[in-house]
Amino acid sequence: MEEKINETLIVLACGDITEESTDAIVNAANERLAGGAGVDGAIHRAGGPAIMAECRQIGGCPTGQAVITTGGNLKAKYVIHTVGPIHRGGTKNEAKLLQSAYRESLKIALQNNLQSISFPAISTGVYSYPIDEAAHLALTTCIDFARGNTGIKVIRHILFDSRVYKTFAEEFKKLI
Ligand code: ADP
Repeated sequence: MEEKINETLIVLACGDITEESTDAIVNAANERLAGGAGVDGAIHRAGGPAIMAECRQIGGCPTGQAVITTGGNLKAKYVIHTVGPIHRGGTKNEAKLLQSAYRESLKIALQNNLQSISFPAISTGVYSYPIDEAAHLALTTCIDFARGNTGIKVIRHILFDSRVYKTFAEEFKKLI
């Protein structure tokens, strides 16, 4: 499913983000940039040690912020590592932090003149964000960014399982 917003095509697809050939893929990292389970582990496994070497040099990334490294052996040239919030009941500023994780990743892409970027469903795995709320925040943030900024031609949301894809698709239909 896809829709053009201003000059940016927003695409939802099922798949494995490590196979994306956009300029950058986004990693749902942790604050220490230490690697881990889920999409983080998959990206480091597929991209090889050059990504972790840069992560160690950078040292860390606060929740809601983003940093950029090489894409190593991936088809994508860069990995943008962002840290989504752990969902702890919804009263700990989680929504603002999740929006910020998407927005800061898009800002880094723009600053680096990247034209295409692929996101996973940040915080919806180990970090337990309810998928419908995460989908709403992810999509509204990307749509607002596309309305306010030009330069990024394609934003892809790569959803690993069909339940998450379905939730994102239902939310996207309401927003466009
Ligand atoms: P977080 O700690 O931010 O919750 P996770 O990696 O645990 O990060 O999960 C985030 C989302 O990424 C989940 O929806 C999970 O199903 C998905 N995911 C896991 N592996 C991949 C992959 N290879 N490509 C795309 N998405 C993935």
